[in-house]
Amino acid sequence: MRPELKFGVIGSGMGGLAAAITLRRKGFAVDIYDRAPEPREIEAGVTLWPNATGLFNKWGLLDAALEQGCALRSIELRSWNGKMLTSSEAIGKYRFPTLCMHRAGLIALLRGAIPRDRFHGSATFDHFDLDQESPIVHFEEGTSAKADAWVGADGLHSKVRSQIHGKRAPHFRGYQRYRGIANGDHSSVREKAFESWGYGKRFGACPIGHGRIAWYATINARPGTLGDPRIWKAELQDRYSNWHNPIPLLIQSTPDAAISKDEIYDREPLFEWGRGCVTLLGDAAHPMTPNLGQGECMTLEDADCLSESLANNLEIAECLRTYEFFRYERTRFMTLDSRRLGEMGQWVHPLAVLIRNLWLRFLPQRTIDARYATLFDYGD
Ligand SMILES: Cc1cc2nc3c(=O)[nH]c(=O)nc-3n(C[C@H](O)[C@H](O)[C@H](O)COP(=O)(O)OP(=O)(O)OC[C@H]3O[C@@H](n4cnc5c(N)ncnc54)[C@H](O)[C@@H]3O)c2cc1C
Repeated sequence: MRPELKFGVIGSGMGGLAAAITLRRKGFAVDIYDRAPEPREIEAGVTLWPNATGLFNKWGLLDAALEQGCALRSIELRSWNGKMLTSSEAIGKYRFPTLCMHRAGLIALLRGAIPRDRFHGSATFDHFDLDQESPIVHFEEGTSAKADAWVGADGLHSKVRSQIHGKRAPHFRGYQRYRGIANGDHSSVREKAFESWGYGKRFGACPIGHGRIAWYATINARPGTLGDPRIWKAELQDRYSNWHNPIPLLIQSTPDAAISKDEIYDREPLFEWGRGCVTLLGDAAHPMTPNLGQGECMTLEDADCLSESLANNLEIAECLRTYEFFRYERTRFMTLDSRRLGEMGQWVHPLAVLIRNLWLRFLPQRTIDARYATLFDYGD
């Protein structure tokens, strides 16, 4: 692969940034284009499992991430009233930590590893011309840009994907998610994350450092019913008032403005992502429900695999298809497994919930720990 090749990346989310970092590490020139004039983030946490923190270590960013976030020692799954269903301390024993941190901090960390003049804001992808030797991308703002290869990292509603595969809406999975950041030191969430399951509702929380706790709550819902943001906190207080501690307290200690709500979507796995010198990465390629917390981690793995697939003597389009081939099975597994877990977590029927909880309580520890090992198994 000629090191003078120039890459264009559409989207400066976690995927676009990680792709730029790994491609630059291989010596390629990279420009990043995003529709937003400036980066913006909502109040939410992110979990980087050992498969992702190993990559941060490879890219020389792990120490800075550790300074910002909180490394977990254990993880617990409880029922809504606090009864333990499963727990594991295996995550504290991997070579690389499981790290929870603020999304904005993570994005800033990745952004800081790329020179400022490589970012181009207010550049909304409209379409590309593939007929040229070097594909040209045209932006809605009337500008265009040329590169030897393009990476579409433009998220769930990717327009790059639509141009290649046709416009298809992602699938709504039947539930919504609130997210927030609570202030204060809650001793029951120190160095530990938990998720609690009720009837058609779940609540999870993890410490993200500096005395803050990131939490999320899911509820079954019809599409297009997010409602009025001014009453989201009151809705949560009502829905989780009788759940175990510290859930009501976490909601109480979250400012209204730090609560967001969205709908949960994914797509069916796609075998070949790109065409010619254009490929996809992250949510543009394989959006998944957040139940495994592996959406970000898969995105970071994509970026690593993309740059590793380019480091040989094949034509660029062949390298991109090789990358897609390598990533297909693992991202397919995560998408489908995460979907199944979410469906089970949102069960409402009392008998189904009873059987589920009993099954979880009697799962052997080695089965639980082996499952984590499968999720974290990304060799570099
Ligand atoms: C706010 C937020 C919170 C999340 N929280 C979780 C979580 O808790 N757990 C989990 O597993 N996953 C979560 N996800 C999903 C997870 O972060 C994604 O799997 C991961 O961020 C994928 O990154 P991405 O870069 O592919 O997409 P995104 O992070 O969505 O980034 C896409 C980027 O493309 C830009 N863009 C979009 N369209 C265009 C266009 N036409 N032209 C130019 N630029 C464009 C957007 O402005 C954005 O910067 C979250 C995603 C978001 C956005």
